[in-house]
Amino acid sequence: MENNVNMRDWLKDFGLSHPLVIGGPCSAETEEQVLKIAHELKDSDVSIYRAGIWKPRTRPGMFEGVGSIGLKWMQKVKEETGLLIATEVANAAHVKLALDHDIDVLWIGARSTVSPFIIQEIAEALEGTEKIVLIKNPVNPDLSLWLGGVERIYKSNINKIGLIHRGFSTYEKTKYRNIPEWQIAIEVQNKFPDIPMICDPSHIGGRRDLIFDISQTALDLNFDGLMIESHHNPDKAWSDANQQVTPKRLIEIMKELKIRKETNQEEDYKNKIDNFRTQIDLIDYSLLDSLGKRMKISEEIGNLKKSKNVAVLQSKRWKKIIQKMILEGKEKGLTEEFILRIFKAIHQESINHQEKVINS
Ligand code: PEP
Ligand code: MN
Repeated sequence: MENNVNMRDWLKDFGLSHPLVIGGPCSAETEEQVLKIAHELKDSDVSIYRAGIWKPRTRPGMFEGVGSIGLKWMQKVKEETGLLIATEVANAAHVKLALDHDIDVLWIGARSTVSPFIIQEIAEALEGTEKIVLIKNPVNPDLSLWLGGVERIYKSNINKIGLIHRGFSTYEKTKYRNIPEWQIAIEVQNKFPDIPMICDPSHIGGRRDLIFDISQTALDLNFDGLMIESHHNPDKAWSDANQQVTPKRLIEIMKELKIRKETNQEEDYKNKIDNFRTQIDLIDYSLLDSLGKRMKISEEIGNLKKSKNVAVLQSKRWKKIIQKMILEGKEKGLTEEFILRIFKAIHQESINHQEKVINS
């Protein structure tokens, strides 16, 4: 993407010495609720107040948002607290209403980024706007869909663009509501280094106790900001109750996070090395996770062999695996010696697991 405007400028205009923080409830529920939370967040690191007005719900019949009346409540927030105001837009009508109500930050939700038709409609409705437009990743881990969304918005002459990483949905249940797949966010950052990247630990975690760690990882990966859902009475929230934190907790989280400042060469070196180490740690975790899963499958095979009275060691199968892995490894720049050592160890562990099952 060719551009002569530095899209980081809108972020610099905030003049912050800490990451940009967007805080506020998942949904606007009542005027009192919207104003109460805003006042509790007013004197914190939060610069932008969020609330969903139109809620994209997976199943019909759930709370679908208060609609455009909520925009008036948001305007009141701006008047009373000075916070900038943000909401999600999912079609051209939403965009028009949001712009008419002087909403400062419009974000495009994960369920919209999946659809080039919707993104195109929103991009055209936003044409030339001076407002800040944030693009969440699509629900599925598809790098090009996310990049395509950015390109469509950018083509509409919008200069103040940002990205929000909110994780990706999976069929398999994990501890996350939406798995982070940090590598995808890192790839997008590398592709568009001058577009600020914000992490949404609330929708990644889906649980309030995960928010701190996800936020710290994001900051260690040099993310520019955080979007954290906050409600004065989280358990009673009309949507996403499990993942919201009180304004008080949000303020504590911001105090407890280790924030890296890019000041001098020494700091710069430290930031870079920490960033690389965080990436390595994430890969190590996923290696362990995969190995754990592999052993579970070995145990299943053990059960099967036990029922059919088959020997644990099947040397033909083992030779095939190792030959395939040596070839694959070469393509990835890994030596034959290394592959042999690592797969022998994995194989041995696998045999141990099977033996345990068979002899139990
Ligand atoms: C939200 O931010 O409230 C929201 C609906 O998020 P997402 O699009 O990430 O699901
Ligand atoms: Mn939400």
